[in-house]
Amino acid sequence: MKRLNFFFILIILNFNIVAQNVNLQKIEPPNWWVGMQNNDLQLLVYGENISTQKVEINSPLVTVNSIITVNNPNYIFINLTIANDAQAGTFDINFKNKSKVTAKYTYELKNKTNIQRGFSAKDLVYLIMPDRFANGNVNNDNVANMLEQADRNNGDGRHGGDIQGVIDHLDYIKKIGATAIWLNPVLENNSPDYSYHGYAATDFYKVDPRHGTNELFKTFVEKAQAMDMKVILDVIYNHCGNNHWWINDLPSSSWVNTDKNFHTTYRGAVLSDPHSSNVDVFKFSAGWFVSTMPDLNQHNQLVATYFIQNTIWWIEYAKINGIRIDTYSYPFQDFMSKLTQRVREEYPDITLLGETWLQTVPHVAYFQGDSPINKNFNTHLQSVTDFPLYYATKDAFNEDDGWTSGLLKLYYVLSQDFLYSDPYNLVTFLDNHDLDRYYTSVGKDIKKLKMGLVFLLTTRGIPVIYYGTEIAMEGSEHMGHGHIRKDFPGGWQGDQTNIFTQTKMSKTQGDALNFVVKLANWRKSNTAVTEGKLMQFLPENNVYTYFKYTDNEAVMVMINNHNSEDRTVDCSRFNEILKDYSSAKEIISGTNYSDLSEIEIKAKSAMIFELYK
Ligand code: CA
Repeated sequence: MKRLNFFFILIILNFNIVAQNVNLQKIEPPNWWVGMQNNDLQLLVYGENISTQKVEINSPLVTVNSIITVNNPNYIFINLTIANDAQAGTFDINFKNKSKVTAKYTYELKNKTNIQRGFSAKDLVYLIMPDRFANGNVNNDNVANMLEQADRNNGDGRHGGDIQGVIDHLDYIKKIGATAIWLNPVLENNSPDYSYHGYAATDFYKVDPRHGTNELFKTFVEKAQAMDMKVILDVIYNHCGNNHWWINDLPSSSWVNTDKNFHTTYRGAVLSDPHSSNVDVFKFSAGWFVSTMPDLNQHNQLVATYFIQNTIWWIEYAKINGIRIDTYSYPFQDFMSKLTQRVREEYPDITLLGETWLQTVPHVAYFQGDSPINKNFNTHLQSVTDFPLYYATKDAFNEDDGWTSGLLKLYYVLSQDFLYSDPYNLVTFLDNHDLDRYYTSVGKDIKKLKMGLVFLLTTRGIPVIYYGTEIAMEGSEHMGHGHIRKDFPGGWQGDQTNIFTQTKMSKTQGDALNFVVKLANWRKSNTAVTEGKLMQFLPENNVYTYFKYTDNEAVMVMINNHNSEDRTVDCSRFNEILKDYSSAKEIISGTNYSDLSEIEIKAKSAMIFELYK
C-alpha cells in the first residue's frame, strides 16, 4: 500500500506541479468552470515562501486582476476574471524567481453542466450518518496517515461505514420510499478522536479516505440520481477541525475568530431580539462552537470568498441537488446572505436548507428566505429546519390533551405558520443525528411511533427520516452521541440481524419497516399530500383531524391520542372539504369506506383516508 501511495503522489506532482525551489503544495479551488454567472475567480495558492515568487499567467482564457499577499509568506491569493467567451480549456500558472520558473500548475476550466433540480415537499429525505450505515469497503477502515483508526467498540469512534456502503444499499433506500438522500458530511476529518461525525473538516476539497474518494462521492450521486433519488450535501461554514491544514499554518490571525476558550452562547435568538446587546451578538457569532473547532471569520473577505467558491465547486463537481447548511445562524449573517445569494444566482433550481436549531416559530421563521418578519437580512434559504414542530411531535403523543398540551401542541405550532414565508418548504423530522431517537422519545411504544410517522408523512413540509427510525432504532442523546448513531443492522459483515436482507429482524423492526415502506411509497404518488394545502380542525375529544387538499384531490388524516378509549367521530364538522367526497380508502388497513358521516378510530392510533368523489 505504501508503495502505491508514493507512486500516486509522484504522478500528481508530475502532472500538475513542477516544484523546484519553492514547494507548491495546493491551489484551491483545484479547477473551475466556464459559463458561470459570475466570472470572477480567486485562487488560494499555498507553498513555502510562495509569496516571494512572481506569478505569470499568459492565456486568453483569463485576466489577472490582482495578487493579494497576507502576513504568512506561504500564501498568495490570485484574483482572476475568466473571459466572457472562454471555452473549456487549461492555462498554466508559472511561479518565477527572476526569469527562472520555480513551479508550475496547469489549471483547468471545464464546462458548467449541473442542471439538477432541488428537493421539495414532493420528496422524502433519508438522512444517513455514513460511518454508521454500512461498511462497503473494509480496506478503507484504517488508512495509514489518518490520526484515528477504526474501533467499533468505541461509541464515539470510527466504525468503518462509508460511501460504498451507501451505494451498495441504494435499492434499500429506494424501497423504503425515499426520494432524496442527505449524508452527514463526508469531507476529511483528520482528528485524533471523535472524527467520525464529519463536522470538523480538515480539508474542504477532499472526501475523507475512510469514506472513499471525491470520485466515489460523484459516482454515488450519479447512481442515486439514476434511480430517481436526489442528493443533499451537508456543509459547514461556521467552523472547521483544529487540524485543518490552514489552521496549522494560518494565512493571517484574522482567519479565525477569538480563541478556543471563548465559546458561543448557542443562543441564536440574539440575532432577532430587538433588545439584544452587541456583546451578546458578538459572543454568539464569534465564539467557538467547541474548543476543537476553530470559529471561522467570514468577515475576512478571503475566508468569505473561499467558502462561496468551495460551495459552488462541490455543487458543480458532484452535481448535487441541494445543500444542507450546518449551524446556519452561527456565522456572520451578512456573509451567509452573500453566499446563499451567489449560490442561488448560479443554481436557481437547487434547494438551500439551513439548520436553524431554535425553539420557537418566530425564531425559526426569521431565517427562511424572504421572511416577512426579518428586516435585517435575507437568507435566501428556501428551507429551514422546523424544530418547533419537532418538539411538539416529540411531546404530543406522550401527553394528555389539555389546553396547550398533547395534540394541541401540534395544532398551535402549525397555527403559527403565518410567520413563515413558505411553511410548505420547511424540513420536518421526528429525530436526527443530534436528537433522541423518536422510538425512545415515545417510550418504545410502536403505536406512538406509527402516529408520529403518519403525522410526519402527511402534514405540511419536507419530511426527513433519520436512518434507523424506519426500524424503530433506540437511543438517548444524554447517553452520548454514539447512542443515537448506532450501526445499522446488516451494514457490517457478521451482523446477526440484517435489515437489508430481512434476516433475523425482530417483530418490531419488521412492523415498523413495513409501515414506513407502505406509507412512504403511497405518499410518493399522492399529490394532495405532497403538493396540497393543509386545513386543520381544532382537536376535539382527543381526536385531531386535518386535510391535505388540491382542487381535485383530498386526504383526511385522523389521530386519536387517548390512551385507552376508542372514539366515534362525527364528520359533519369537516363538511367544507368532505362535501365533495362520498367514499374513501383507509391507507394503513386498506379498508374501503362508503359512508363518511362517522368514523371509528382506535385509541392511540392514526388513520389516513384517501378520499374519492
Ligand atoms: Ca469502510
